[in-house]
Amino acid sequence: MRVIRSVKTMQRLVAKARRAGKRVGFVPTMGALHEGHASLLRRCRRENDIVVLSIFVNPKQFGLKEDFAKYPRRERDDKKLAKREKVDIIFVPSVKEMYPEGYLTYIEVEKITKVLCGKSRPGHFRGVTTVVGKLLNIVMPDALYLGQKDAQQAAVLAWMVRDLNFPVSVRICSTVRETGGLAMSSRNEYLTADQRREAAVLYRSLKEARQSVIAGNHSVAATIGKMRSRIRRESSGRIDYIECVAADTLAPLKRIQGKIIIALAVWFGKTRLIDNIIVRA
Ligand code: AMP
Repeated sequence: MRVIRSVKTMQRLVAKARRAGKRVGFVPTMGALHEGHASLLRRCRRENDIVVLSIFVNPKQFGLKEDFAKYPRRERDDKKLAKREKVDIIFVPSVKEMYPEGYLTYIEVEKITKVLCGKSRPGHFRGVTTVVGKLLNIVMPDALYLGQKDAQQAAVLAWMVRDLNFPVSVRICSTVRETGGLAMSSRNEYLTADQRREAAVLYRSLKEARQSVIAGNHSVAATIGKMRSRIRRESSGRIDYIECVAADTLAPLKRIQGKIIIALAVWFGKTRLIDNIIVRA
């Protein structure tokens, strides 16, 4: 396993592998790796000759009052997990390597970045698309692996890849959860033991909503209303949003129909958790 910190070296290595006819798969992360990341790496390993993992806590996707400084950084443990998952190359650039002085260029996907998390985190997706666009030009992969856990991020990046003709296929992998149902996230470690127990209500409420849609309830208001009261009743979580949106366009729905995503963001103390479920009505 090689650890690469320079953009030039990374590009040279991948160009050589591609000339040799190797298929390159890529899993971008912010590190503090857990089993959710591991599941992406495993699928990437199965489907490619070369597995590239990037670890970069991207300052441009954090708001001024967000957790960039305290975001967990654990390169040593991350390397162990990467080795276990048979990663070939870890790309770990510094902030200066990615954004040298005088950096001026950004990628912005319109419209679908303004709903859901885009409302409470202005500028977040502009940071995400900019860094992933850069990473795609650096790693030049055949396939890009993303988690359904970050449903809006996956939709926005798939849209960017399509609109800007990045020659890569986007693979979305299902959400890995803890035994109680809480979606795994590097941010879960900010939670106290009580908050972590309580946060399991998020997935319970999503599953209940899915059941009721499958049973024939197509009212968005009723579905969201039930979820709100359950989360309020069973936890101390403060709801940022709960929404039913079309799976492809993320457009808010008046009535539930077709393939939809029920998505939520809920604060537990100072930690904002997101989760979602896909439902076919
Ligand atoms: P992050 O390091 O949080 O930026 O995540 C890197 C990638 O891993 C993103 O594509 C995430 O959607 C994905 N990911 C994070 N948590 C999970 C999870 N619990 N299950 C599946 N994928 C995940």
